Amino acid sequence: MIDLRSDTVTKPSADMLKAMINAMVGDDVYGEDPTVNELEALAAKMMGTQDAIFCTSGTQSNLLALLVHCERGDEYIVGQHAHTYRYEGGGAAVFGSIQPQPLDFEEDGTLSLEKVSQFIKPDDFHFANTKLLCLENTHAGKILPLDYLKEAKKFADDNRLILHLDGARVFNAAVKLKVDVKEITCFFDTISCCLSKGLGAPVGSVLCGAGDQIKKARRWRKVLGGGMRQAGILAAAGIYALSNNIHRLEKDHDNALVLAKALSEIKNIHINMEMVQTNIIFADIKADMDTLYDFLKEKGIIIDKNNNLRLVTHLDISSPDIDYTIKAFKAFFD
Ligand SMILES: *Cc1c(COP(=O)(O)O)cnc(C)c1O
Repeated sequence: MIDLRSDTVTKPSADMLKAMINAMVGDDVYGEDPTVNELEALAAKMMGTQDAIFCTSGTQSNLLALLVHCERGDEYIVGQHAHTYRYEGGGAAVFGSIQPQPLDFEEDGTLSLEKVSQFIKPDDFHFANTKLLCLENTHAGKILPLDYLKEAKKFADDNRLILHLDGARVFNAAVKLKVDVKEITCFFDTISCCLSKGLGAPVGSVLCGAGDQIKKARRWRKVLGGGMRQAGILAAAGIYALSNNIHRLEKDHDNALVLAKALSEIKNIHINMEMVQTNIIFADIKADMDTLYDFLKEKGIIIDKNNNLRLVTHLDISSPDIDYTIKAFKAFFD
């Protein structure tokens, strides 16, 4: 099956499974799992932070960051369509009594700092305390420009805001920009990064930050039921992913570009090619999506059913798979 719905659908490769089977394990709640400790040290080193913590998911990792930085009655400013606002079940409000202040993203995936400044609340008991600004990189496959990150850091410092990055796909941004990921992460207090997306691990994310922040996160992770025992089996997949699957993201970006270009030449498909920057394509499709879905499914291709269709390339999709997919789309629309 060629599953284009998400880069979360990847299955662990034979070599990754071998690393998992051979992992040395211990009780991580006691801090005694050597493989988890190794993953956390590796993630911190790669992101340029003091420490890191292995989390069950990106949702948990982002929530831990919010719980670390914000207290009851504090507020975070976040994109209207950001994962940390829209797609995490309102966790910050549910578990932290933290108020979100969502703002519309600009077309390039940034939050206008001008607009953000208008929503920072005055120090007055009528208002929640604006504590944190949350950015997402990549957002809908779009890369935040490095100049913007630098401005955002200065802006955050000037306004005494903490800066958190939802970097679920931060390595896609780094690979595309051909920079070390630290050139992106250096502007942030904390960074959450998914191992289970394009990097191909079956489970897990890492939250990276300063020692005291990660210590606090460890406490909240336990509270949330995320204290896992012999988690080294999972962490081994994460180590494998960080060691072997970053550079190859370039392939996913190339595949996405080839697919997007070919699909954009089909009359009833519209794609803004400027927005195809990494492994995610948004295609406006004029067709009955149920019919298209069934047609492609029959040919072994899985998509969602939205007319504003998101297609995602990943390590289980090869270049011949892309050619085959293009032919199938053409056959439907011709
Ligand atoms: C996938 C994703 C997350 C985390 O999702 P989980 O499924 O909880 O691991 C966070 N942010 C963004 C932008 C994502 O795409």
